[in-house]
Amino acid sequence: MTALFPFDNSYARLPGRFFAKVAPTPVEAPRLVRLNRALAVELGLDPERLETPEGVGALAGQRVPEGAEPLAAAYAGHQFGQFVPQLGDGRAILLGEVVDRHGLRRDVQLKGSGPTPFSRRGDGRAALGPVLREYLVSEAMHALGIPTTRALAAVTTGEQVIRETVLPGAVLTRVASSHIRVGSFQFFAARGDVEGLRALADHAIARHDPAAAEAENPYRALLEGVIRRQAELVARWLTVGFIHGVMNTDNMSIAGETIDYGPCAFLDAYDPATAFSSIDRHGRYAYGNQPRIALWNLTRLAEALLPLLSDDETRAVGEAEGALSGFAGLFEAAYHGGLNRKLGLATTRDGDTALAGDLLKAMSENEADFTLTFRRLGEAVPDAASDPEPAAVEAVRSLFIDPTAYDRWAERWHRRLAEEPGDAAARRRLMRTANPAFIPRNHQVEAMIEAAVERQDFAPFETLLAVLARPYDAQPGFARFAEAPEGGGRGYRTFCGT
Ligand code: AMP
Ligand code: MG
Repeated sequence: MTALFPFDNSYARLPGRFFAKVAPTPVEAPRLVRLNRALAVELGLDPERLETPEGVGALAGQRVPEGAEPLAAAYAGHQFGQFVPQLGDGRAILLGEVVDRHGLRRDVQLKGSGPTPFSRRGDGRAALGPVLREYLVSEAMHALGIPTTRALAAVTTGEQVIRETVLPGAVLTRVASSHIRVGSFQFFAARGDVEGLRALADHAIARHDPAAAEAENPYRALLEGVIRRQAELVARWLTVGFIHGVMNTDNMSIAGETIDYGPCAFLDAYDPATAFSSIDRHGRYAYGNQPRIALWNLTRLAEALLPLLSDDETRAVGEAEGALSGFAGLFEAAYHGGLNRKLGLATTRDGDTALAGDLLKAMSENEADFTLTFRRLGEAVPDAASDPEPAAVEAVRSLFIDPTAYDRWAERWHRRLAEEPGDAAARRRLMRTANPAFIPRNHQVEAMIEAAVERQDFAPFETLLAVLARPYDAQPGFARFAEAPEGGGRGYRTFCGT
């Protein structure tokens, strides 16, 4: 019989101090909540078999599947600006890696599968609510076209976890291009372990930046690769209103994927100062701070890499600064390119940045819903020969406390659109692919979790998942999932799920 997972492990081949070998802890009564069949197929796995007791047992951490070399990775990290020299996988266990149908190496990791040597005071477990939240939001991000870890499966454990209340336990199977973080490099740098640092960097280059191996300075090329991916990722977050919520350096992936869906949430009313996380009291990780924090984290990565960048300290600093100086331009290009598409602009002109910025300013002053404003803008596109549909215009302007703020801005937008090639229909199409109708709205995510946790009713989870799999399609039957919450969603709070 072939193996359930065709594991081909590379991280487990790295030196022993990179991780602790530890098996998942078996659970009371594993039950499959959901298997991501399409992802299973993409990974070269057999979805039918993953749904059998053998498969569910593996996904629950009941049995170590053949070929797995379970381990908890060691890493460090800056948490809210404070350096913690040892964190590590405290409630996650890497089963192994598979090479997917596109030839890409993917980690298969269980989250919530029991304690590891890095658990500190934690129980190594996860509650059902946060598991469903991560499953749903990470898959929604993928459907939005944003690089992210994926969710292969969610299982309940039949056990309780103690948080502020007693909650049902669950395990998420997470799939990632790798779980190497900024904090992974910091772990070795903090110990003065240059050999470990080099081994990790070489591993990361082989996995994520193979071209860097040929560069004059491969480690600078690696750093530049991470900077580029993060600049683009954060720009993508901003264009859909995503707030990660806990951008600690241990939660920033070298592969450039969105990782660690703890307190993340999407904006409703546009306000760049929005921070939902209950532990983010000073708004360090607020929506509008994310680019600055990304650069701060990347600066910590550059510092960690200094011993590899050059033997000469001054030159190493020069290499690091040279690489970091590229961030702003890469971010601006990605962000403003994204905003232009959201406005239906296929070309770029001077003044576009101000045009987009002034819309955002009017939105924040008028508490306009971020997602609805842009989506409805796509229907309020003027034709060369005629004004936009009055009903479509009213649908956008009514989102503003003072609708004339929209009218004033729209005049400028119309003038700018008149300079564009192509017709209104083409513009509408472009805008429909840039402005999602459906994002994981906080009030709906909460209702979904409540149904699952309080009433073992997983139907809302399935429905929401199906709707969010097609975020750019109109889906008129599901219009209620596109609605903004009462009061613009202010006062919403998220928790780390620990
Ligand atoms: P996070 O905020 O999820 O990025 O987690 C930060 C650190 O705390 C990581 O080292 C986690 O592995 C660890 N951690 C979080 N929750 C738990 C838990 N329930 N049990 C053990 N370790 C945990
Ligand atoms: Mg984390």
